Amino acid sequence: MSSSMYRQRMRIALALRHHSHRLRSLSSAAAVERRGGPPPIRVAITESAGRGVFATRPIAAGELIHTAKPVVAHPSPYSPSKVCYYCLRKLGEEEESPAAAHAHFCSDSCRHHSKVFYEVERKADWSIFDDHCRAREVKYPFMAKRLACMVISGAASVDSLDILQPSSLFQETISEARMGEQFELLRRTFVKAQIEENLTAFLTKEWYISVLARIRINAFRIELVAGSYEDLLASASASVSADAASGNAVYMLPSFYNHDCDPNAHILWIDNVDARLKALRDIEAGEELRICYIDASMDYGARQNLLTEGFGFRCSCLRCLSRD
Ligand SMILES: [Zn+2]
Ligand SMILES: [Zn+2]
Repeated sequence: MSSSMYRQRMRIALALRHHSHRLRSLSSAAAVERRGGPPPIRVAITESAGRGVFATRPIAAGELIHTAKPVVAHPSPYSPSKVCYYCLRKLGEEEESPAAAHAHFCSDSCRHHSKVFYEVERKADWSIFDDHCRAREVKYPFMAKRLACMVISGAASVDSLDILQPSSLFQETISEARMGEQFELLRRTFVKAQIEENLTAFLTKEWYISVLARIRINAFRIELVAGSYEDLLASASASVSADAASGNAVYMLPSFYNHDCDPNAHILWIDNVDARLKALRDIEAGEELRICYIDASMDYGARQNLLTEGFGFRCSCLRCLSRD
């Protein structure tokens, strides 16, 4: 094992220990959602790929392994169709609020739940920050903004995403200057809105960069197409062009699944941002559950390029070993 890989594993082991209470509460949250006992999985350190998710009993093809609610989600700032500002459900024409309204909600429940960020968000004038991000076609700063609002409202803790792996490629692809500029705009927006200083004390450039680095590699691109597993993890490029996705979201448990080009599990979204992890084939107890981070229909070379550039690893799954 290389020393850097060793360090990486130690770091993850420490992080897992530090956050084990959070993992336990995650498992129980998933259990409550399933209403059928705890989900048949555990998170553990793998031989070569950091932590992973393992089956604790046989799982049948097609079985719903668990569901997951996002830690933070945001509609695509470039989506052609309107979606609920909270759950990303697609809104019909008749459901849309007047064009002047900034945020649209699909239900009273979503309007209620969105209070955790929207009451803070509404206090500020976001036009400069939003225009800056839109002009550069970046979407993750919108998620960082939402998380910041959630932290200010007390709905999320400052270290909500710390347990997730940050992108190691991050610093190379986005300049410090550019992130610094975004951060300054975000900070100034809160200052102008006269949010109490002690509530925004967490908002440092280091926090912003750390959050973006984790969002970038862990965000799922949400496409509400049932049954498809072409649900790419967020695109490799930090600056992506306009797309038709409903939005993006970061989850806890789903982020612990490792990649395989011939996966035994997949993640899908039926009609909103709530994720469903399903078995694609019969899985044995103890087997690692893996999902495909990219479009599995691509050929070997294209897959390796995308995984190397976007996620920082070369894939050595059985399919790749056979150069399929
Ligand atoms: Zn909704
Ligand atoms: Zn592979």
